[in-house]
Amino acid sequence: MEAFIRVDQYNFIKRQVQNIVNAQSTSNDHRVRSTIKSMAFERVCALFPDMTAEQEHILKQIPEIDDKEKADQFLIPLKQYVIPFAYTEQRIAKLFPKVKKLKVPKEKDLDLQEICYLSWTDYSTNQKFIVINANGKPIGLHGSFDSSRQKGICVICNGFEEVGLFLTKKKGEVQGTYSKKGNYICRDSEVCNHNIVSLDPLQRFTDLLK
Ligand SMILES: [Zn+2]
Repeated sequence: MEAFIRVDQYNFIKRQVQNIVNAQSTSNDHRVRSTIKSMAFERVCALFPDMTAEQEHILKQIPEIDDKEKADQFLIPLKQYVIPFAYTEQRIAKLFPKVKKLKVPKEKDLDLQEICYLSWTDYSTNQKFIVINANGKPIGLHGSFDSSRQKGICVICNGFEEVGLFLTKKKGEVQGTYSKKGNYICRDSEVCNHNIVSLDPLQRFTDLLK
């Protein structure tokens, strides 16, 4: 079977499964536990309106989960159906033609099935690079990144994490003028990617800055 789960959807499923496991250990009420299971299953099904019988067969295991062990037995094999981030070093380098000494991360250092967006920071210049695949087309953003440590809400994952201000410079309508736009995002894009359960905030972030 082909991969059919986006990374954010996999994260969403993981979170639902976690809810089930938590409820099993914190609630003695059988009805509460079974309600949480069926709600989790419904929410996951809603992600896949065109679900095939094969896909349904896999996801139907969700209401059977009742402890961490069963959760892992479900989630670990499920990862093979996660669509990997479309990555080649060349493809990514092409997005930043004007950047000298671009340091694109190596594929061997990445788990492409855990990446909704690719990001890395060049600490020698304090530049942060972001690559998003929007409808199969890669979009590259780069800007300065204020790396002073502070906690806040990240606009991409909505998590309360260590964030920094990402600022992009855009050419203004009058020649020689610039406008700056920015947002607070996670310092650590690995943490951020694990938190993403919907691509909507990432899409809004990209629309604002591109
Ligand atoms: Zn984040």
